[in-house]
Amino acid sequence: MLSSFSPWFYHIMPRAFVGSYAAGLPAVSNALERCRSRTVTPAICARPAAWGATLTRTYVAPSSEEAVQHRHLNLETRYAVELPHYEPGDNSHIEEVFGNVHSTESFSAVDGPGVRFLVFVQGCAMRCLFCSNPDTWNMKGGTRTSSKELADQIRKVRSYLRPRGGVTISGGEAMLQPRFVSAVFQEVHAMGLNTTIDTTGQGTKHGNWDVVLPHTDLVLFCIKHMDPLKYESLTGLKQKGALRFADELAERKIPFYLRYVYIPGYTDAPKDIDRLIEWSKKQPTFQGIELLPYHVLGKNKWEVMHIPYPLDGVQTPSHETVSKVIKLFNDNDISVICAN
Ligand code: SF4
Repeated sequence: MLSSFSPWFYHIMPRAFVGSYAAGLPAVSNALERCRSRTVTPAICARPAAWGATLTRTYVAPSSEEAVQHRHLNLETRYAVELPHYEPGDNSHIEEVFGNVHSTESFSAVDGPGVRFLVFVQGCAMRCLFCSNPDTWNMKGGTRTSSKELADQIRKVRSYLRPRGGVTISGGEAMLQPRFVSAVFQEVHAMGLNTTIDTTGQGTKHGNWDVVLPHTDLVLFCIKHMDPLKYESLTGLKQKGALRFADELAERKIPFYLRYVYIPGYTDAPKDIDRLIEWSKKQPTFQGIELLPYHVLGKNKWEVMHIPYPLDGVQTPSHETVSKVIKLFNDNDISVICAN
């Protein structure tokens, strides 16, 4: 799901960072410096200790003044929120669960704080018109994977992920394999790392959110549209589930960044952007927005799967247009992450 929003962003940049990583963290930082952002939102994070790990202290994000000093992106300020710190602990009591995994990436600097290990799980109930990964839709596809084996893979690169980084699980829709994601997250906490889920909030409170969220430190919440009818025509699902999910994040005091795909003619109407701004400002744990300009690089997968691409002919938004939208968010004191 994460990779579905901005194909170039998630398929090209992470790999660029992997290459940069080989040349050292300064190179990664320089790559991020090329992306523009403004971070002004103080973060709040007071989460209880998770099973299998010990919460040693609660972090406080940089103050507005400190954040504004960093006008450009770098590894420390791109996601200004600070997540709980976990001490490594015993994992022998954590259940082994099998899940269907599409793919993994060992290093990413664009899917949560610090350097992150990414897991893309298989399966999604949405059918977004702009999806760049229709190959993740089938719940039965992917590779059957043990949570313990995946944890072993993560453990091998653990030292590169610390101190701010951790593991991000995306999809497909990560919420649709709740026991697997929960087990992996518990393993991650037991390694002394933090957890992030990239989700549209699919599923239900008791069947999915109650299983995953107790072990989740940060959410990258993809809100597809603020208009209920347009949401449904864009994704095939009703919007009310996503709004209930936002209420759940508020209740649990889980910080989240919104991800919003900016598609000319579909999600760019000024009144819809205004609505997004107003709604965001009311969310108690909202940290900022990741604006993802629409791109067509995912189109070839539709062709390979012999599915007509619904957004044929839709152009990517111009740099100037996206800059104006970023300014609008900034003018409303909303921090924006965008590689425009
Ligand atoms: S269809 Fe699923 S995987 Fe594709 S963009 Fe939508 S939520 Fe993401």
